[in-house]
Amino acid sequence: KKVADRYLKREVLGEGTYGVVYKAIDTKTGQVVAIKKIRIGKQKEGVNFTALREIKLLKELKDPNIIELIDAFPHKGNLHLVFEFMETDLEAVIRDRNIFLSPADIKSYLQMTLKGLAICHKKWVLHRDMKPNNLLIGPNGQLKLADFGLARIFGSPDRRFTHQVFARWYRAPELLFGTKQYGPAVDVWAAACIFAELLLRRPFLQGSSDIDQLAAFGTPTASQWPDMAYLPDYVEYQYVPAPPLRSLFPMASDDALDLLAKMFTYDPKIRISVQQALEHRYFSSAPLPTVPDKLLPRP
Ligand code: ADP
Repeated sequence: KKVADRYLKREVLGEGTYGVVYKAIDTKTGQVVAIKKIRIGKQKEGVNFTALREIKLLKELKDPNIIELIDAFPHKGNLHLVFEFMETDLEAVIRDRNIFLSPADIKSYLQMTLKGLAICHKKWVLHRDMKPNNLLIGPNGQLKLADFGLARIFGSPDRRFTHQVFARWYRAPELLFGTKQYGPAVDVWAAACIFAELLLRRPFLQGSSDIDQLAAFGTPTASQWPDMAYLPDYVEYQYVPAPPLRSLFPMASDDALDLLAKMFTYDPKIRISVQQALEHRYFSSAPLPTVPDKLLPRP
């Protein structure tokens, strides 16, 4: 039995933020795909027009570093989003002790992450939920951003499921202070957390609550971030100075730390942009980023 007369259902891959994800075969192309089933049953009128327009925009975002949205259709009270199937993700790579990550490999993963973000930011689409398990990795080592723009279409995943607490570790300080006018800088902060995680091989800022999350890095001073006191959920913290990055990342190069510091700028107005980050000398100095197909151990 085919779904939408086209997709042959295989096993369930997992439960995500918005619903079940399962593997399927696209009988039209023979391609293996991952289908994300999003519950829309309760909304009588189905998916609203804004959501449909956004989905159309995502379908048009074609780039080597963004997961392709192949198809989207409603079926039995669920919206089905069809993506290209990916073997693994960056979280699994970071956790796998058998995988050695050289400085050039780390540079390559960060560069692919930023390249994907740059394409989306150019079209004013924010990711808003960047974390290593949303960075999928294809058979030839290519890293692709997944779940792009879904937060904007289907609502912020923050309060949805308990497993989402992990996303807190990647949340920019302006989001922790409840800003409603966030921009591309939230994705830069998350990318900085992922950069740090690649260097450390474990999540960097593991706050146990939103309040705790901000202090995990050290708290900003008013001169570092003049506007913070005007944010909706601003609370005065006891000042915790951030430790020097050099002491936390003893093995990182000076270029790596310089870029990391610019991405970890508290004030979103002066935080480095994705485009500026890609132009940082870290990416042009030796060692050059590993070419993707040399990244994963070949079978
Ligand atoms: P979350 O919302 O927690 O990020 P997702 O909805 O993205 O989770 O994914 C749920 C599960 O489906 C995960 O185990 C993930 O690895 C898998 N998955 C999601 N997208 C794909 C894909 N394109 N290819 C293969 N597996 C996928």
